[in-house]
Amino acid sequence: MVTIKSKSEIEKMREASRIANLAQKAVERAIRPGISTLELDRIAEKTMRENGAIPAEKGYPSGIKGVPDFPGAICASINDNIIHGIPSSKAILQEGDIISVDLVAYKDGFNGDCARTYSVGKVSVEAQRLIDVTKQSFFEGIKYARKGYRLGDICHAIGEYVDKNGFSVIKEFEGHGIGREMHEDPGIPNFGKAGRGIRLEPGMTLAIEPMVTAGFPEIYSGDDGWSIWISDGSLSAHYENTILITEKEPEILTLA
Ligand code: MG
Repeated sequence: MVTIKSKSEIEKMREASRIANLAQKAVERAIRPGISTLELDRIAEKTMRENGAIPAEKGYPSGIKGVPDFPGAICASINDNIIHGIPSSKAILQEGDIISVDLVAYKDGFNGDCARTYSVGKVSVEAQRLIDVTKQSFFEGIKYARKGYRLGDICHAIGEYVDKNGFSVIKEFEGHGIGREMHEDPGIPNFGKAGRGIRLEPGMTLAIEPMVTAGFPEIYSGDDGWSIWISDGSLSAHYENTILITEKEPEILTLA
């Protein structure tokens, strides 16, 4: 069931989302060659806690027998690790890497979710283009994130823009509704047919998150049971915001 948030719930979504964005900004300032993803994790968690939020990814159940709950406050995924990388003191950023950071702040019963891919020092032209196309595909998608359109219009616009630019979305993971739960209905694939799916209504809060690779869009799970990798070792990028459907333009809660 897709929930419609009340005015007071939307205020809480704004606050959780504001803090998620603050945590991203703190991570972004810290990114440099030589820093570990565990250090980035600590920075994000500290920022969230100082603002009265908790990192909702920490302790998130895997749902897979034998795979422990997620140990990190953030997902930190380098290069061909597209999503769900576990922060580690052994994962040290190198000049030329790209790193995707996905985090969720939880406060007063509500979640704010956002992801960014950052460059470490100077990166290749191709890597920068991948980051830029992934980010822009989100903005292409949300042109349709308004009353009168259907969910499939967003999905289609994202997928089409990525394809047109010579990259590929992965199909096994998708965006989602968000609110009291980190993952609510509807699922929001990064591809699809325009004109299909639910009608968008004011008060819906959605986490829209293109996950894109420069290579062939086939993935595998790492030995840790969490991390997801591109099979051919190509670079990958991720961009996500929590948005609110309104009577007019969507409000991007994790960019406020
Ligand atoms: Mg996320």
